[in-house]
Amino acid sequence: MTAAKTKPRNVTSSKRKVENASLPIKEVEVLVVGAGISGIGAAIRLQKEGVSNFVVLEKAKSLGGTWRDNTYPGCACDVPSALYSFSFAQKSDWTRVFAGQPEILDYVEDTARRHQIESFIRFGEPAQESYWDDKACHWVVTTAKATWHARSIISCTGYLHAPIIPNLPGLHEFSGEMFHSSHWKHDVDLTGKRVAVIGTGASAIQFVPEIQPLVSELKVYQRTPQWILPKMDSSLPPLQRRLLGLPMVKEALRNAIYAGFETFGIGFRRPTLLKQVERLARAHIRWAVRDPKLRDIVTPNYTLGCKRVLMSNNYYPALAQQNVEVFATGVKEIRGNTLIGEDGSEREVDVIILGTGFHVSDQPIAHHVRGKDGRLLSEVWAGSPEAYRGSTISGFPNLFLILGPNLAIGHNSAFIVIEAQLKYAMSALRTMRERQLMRIEVRGSAQAAYNEQVQAALQGTVWNTGGCSSYYIDANGKNSIGFPWSTLTMKRLLDKFDEENYFIMPELESSLDENITSLSKQNSEVVGASA
Ligand code: NAP
Repeated sequence: MTAAKTKPRNVTSSKRKVENASLPIKEVEVLVVGAGISGIGAAIRLQKEGVSNFVVLEKAKSLGGTWRDNTYPGCACDVPSALYSFSFAQKSDWTRVFAGQPEILDYVEDTARRHQIESFIRFGEPAQESYWDDKACHWVVTTAKATWHARSIISCTGYLHAPIIPNLPGLHEFSGEMFHSSHWKHDVDLTGKRVAVIGTGASAIQFVPEIQPLVSELKVYQRTPQWILPKMDSSLPPLQRRLLGLPMVKEALRNAIYAGFETFGIGFRRPTLLKQVERLARAHIRWAVRDPKLRDIVTPNYTLGCKRVLMSNNYYPALAQQNVEVFATGVKEIRGNTLIGEDGSEREVDVIILGTGFHVSDQPIAHHVRGKDGRLLSEVWAGSPEAYRGSTISGFPNLFLILGPNLAIGHNSAFIVIEAQLKYAMSALRTMRERQLMRIEVRGSAQAAYNEQVQAALQGTVWNTGGCSSYYIDANGKNSIGFPWSTLTMKRLLDKFDEENYFIMPELESSLDENITSLSKQNSEVVGASA
């Protein structure tokens, strides 16, 4: 059970004006935001650390995050099941080599149940505004139900969360049904309908083959083709499952897949190594697509790996069906129920499905979190998210990000990143508890030096040089998503809280000193520039 305490309203705070006086104030040691995979992992780790005074805020009525939201037909993982679970809560009876969404969601729910996490979750209570109260040394987080005072926050809001709804003229006046792949309208019967799909990324290549046999006409608007490899998927019969569940076999398989993906990941840092894989992807197109015109349309002209490498056995065959028309173009506008392509084509449809992805580097949470100087995280980041080791941010004390900036590996399981970051956050929280620290804040100099190294190392990666546009590159043209080294390096960087790179509470004065030093340095640079 959680030990969140309700407190009378006598707290002195420099910024209490944003607090709603009619709401109770509740105090916790740690506030976890989001009950997806990261949030559940954080809750389990906190319990193991002996922290019971924490709460998980979840906007929805159930847990699971992206695996709860994405219920589109064919939704499945493109990381093998054997690697897609927490190392401390491994599942050994997956029914497929690549598990589908319902089975993954079951796993997340089951893991939460087994670790008795649900009682810590406040469902239907999204964090609205958060700010750091430097006097009181805690975060103040408002929700519709309470004002939370938390010594620390672990932000587990994920980055595949806020759907991109393209700003197309006429889209909102479209006379038919329209929805995004992550908010699939299961009550819309697609049978016999004329359906347009905008976007051909990881989600679209999974749902297009599922809906193609149902619809009368399918119009696929592909702005950029993707590299797609065959998917080595199959169901796992009970006998095989039992064998794979044997502890030694399970561990060996997990290690082998991990090593395989790590080896593949070297190619992201040395793109020439990906040429062999690109040949395989080209052979896949030649084998699966007979029509030379369609082949031409679906063949990318950038280096494999620049966008996420996809896997499917049924996407190309679906595109080749009689009722499918593929446009090598985006959509310019919508008039009534007619889609006008960038190529001037006009097609009437009954339903539009947006497979247009997510706001990855412009996450909604950044617009609601204010640091010690009152600035929003979105203002500090100005379109280019940045953190120290993807986890902590100068000016935002006692805040830990999970799946933070520049930690996407593009080739391995997200559980690896989540667990590495949780280890770091737990190490920091342990230090705070043991030493009774009120406040830790990463040094601006440490954050800047780390990110200089990250950006330098990213220069040669396929994400930066592959010749495509992708969500790795943000609105300012900076790669704020990719991690430029191996996951072994990531694990090393996040193995232990490195106190020397932080201001801790007794060193508040030196924090002020550094700010003053850095301000006067900036001033002299400005003066120097204008002289
Ligand atoms: P995505 O891969 O980012 O693809 C978005 C697609 O929408 C792209 O084809 C993009 O075209 C297109 N698009 C965006 N705005 C558009 C516009 N205004 N007009 C026309 N086209 C537009 O998004 P997603 O398919 O939703 O997948 C997102 C991420 O979710 C994936 O990269 C992956 O990390 C994750 N995912 C994972 C799994 C899994 O198996 N683990 C499964 C599904 C998704 P351009 O390429 O031209 O920008």
